[in-house]
Amino acid sequence: MALVVQKYGGTSVGTVERIKAVAEKVGRFHDDGNQVIVTVSAMSGETNRLLGLSNAISSSPAARELDVVVSTGEQVTIGLLVMALIELGYDARSYTGGQVKIITDSAHGKARIQRIEDKNLRNELDAGRIVVVAGFQGVDESGNITTLGRGGSDTTAVALAAALKADECQIYTDVDGVYTTDPRVVDCAKRLDKITFEEMLEMASLGSKVLQIRAVEFAGKFGVPLRVLSSFKEGPGTLITCEEDDSNMERPLISGIAFNRDEAKLTLRGVPDKPGVASHILGPVGDANIEVDMIVQNIGGNSTNDFTFTVHRNEYHKAIEVLTKVAKDVGAAELVSDDKIAKVSVVGVGMRSHAGVASTMFRSLADESINIQMISTSEIKISVVIEEKYLELAVRALHTAFDLDVHEDKD
Ligand code: ADP
Ligand code: ASP
Ligand code: MG
Repeated sequence: MALVVQKYGGTSVGTVERIKAVAEKVGRFHDDGNQVIVTVSAMSGETNRLLGLSNAISSSPAARELDVVVSTGEQVTIGLLVMALIELGYDARSYTGGQVKIITDSAHGKARIQRIEDKNLRNELDAGRIVVVAGFQGVDESGNITTLGRGGSDTTAVALAAALKADECQIYTDVDGVYTTDPRVVDCAKRLDKITFEEMLEMASLGSKVLQIRAVEFAGKFGVPLRVLSSFKEGPGTLITCEEDDSNMERPLISGIAFNRDEAKLTLRGVPDKPGVASHILGPVGDANIEVDMIVQNIGGNSTNDFTFTVHRNEYHKAIEVLTKVAKDVGAAELVSDDKIAKVSVVGVGMRSHAGVASTMFRSLADESINIQMISTSEIKISVVIEEKYLELAVRALHTAFDLDVHEDKD
């Protein structure tokens, strides 16, 4: 008998009909002799609606109370899914994060799971029940409700699978696997049979929201077999694996292209070129709890530098405030900022052993007359910042340049 954790995302439980269809799918799995723990997201759009309500009351809602509100979406879907299972004749029970005892730290809105008590869940499974657990939520040691960040139900699923040593964690969503890039942007994107944890981690952190980054981290750390599949159509999906597949001689250099529009860029021009300046600039930014992503420093002239970095777009205004003050303190000539940028990244473990990826990338962007504003690299990825309006063009051009296009039906 296998123990499987299945997660159904917002679109998959977006209507009453879809919840009923999920109940049938889960039930069939149980009929086949498997033990099943299901975790669900809120119905699609619900978390945004709850955030909207909160923001209509306060421009900066108290973090503890915001979690009380936004965690309710998942409480609705676990109850509805269990009702649907009972209608079909299955013995099933719902659990909130607090009822399971998914214990997190107290960082409201981005809490990290510290441990999961498995006793209740084991007892339910031993009694032959299907257990449905609310995604995205936990409680801290004092019993305060916490949430795990957007897309956090993926992490709930993987953490449950790790805690219960499940045979597989299956993430059911509205696409039938992980593609070479977002299939909603590039029609001829290709579904991957496999992708390594390392690549998936880069893809997720660089903007591919098909899996939450923490879920991938968790699965890699605890060796949880993880698969992304469609809720709506049968198929093998994509397996996230530990091994690099050396048997495939035709393995492409690049496994995928990720992108995001969530960043903004700030530049301090004419910063005196002397020791300690970078820390004088980034120190106050860190103190204001603003995370910095890419950083570039260029030598200007007259012993000065231009210092550029990117932050999340949500923190753009806060970053401008901090830098306006810093600019005076360090004697910079001017502050220039831009929130109409996008980051495009090519990712692939094949890059380690092959030169030429950067030149192919830069040439294909140049052929489309797309200017590269910033570049950053790691062993298995190259990212560039470009003007936001060229994002889709850039992703398509790179997809073709790295030979990733397919020309058959997918969905
Ligand atoms: P869910 O609500 O099921 O958690 P999400 O919207 O969070 O679903 O994630 C699925 C979406 O991720 C897809 O609809 C797709 O648009 C997007 N996506 C982005 N990059 C990729 C990729 N490389 N492969 C597949 N889907 C991707
Ligand atoms: N409902 C939450 C969100 O919309 C969590 C999730 O769907 O994974 O971000
Ligand atoms: Mg998601």
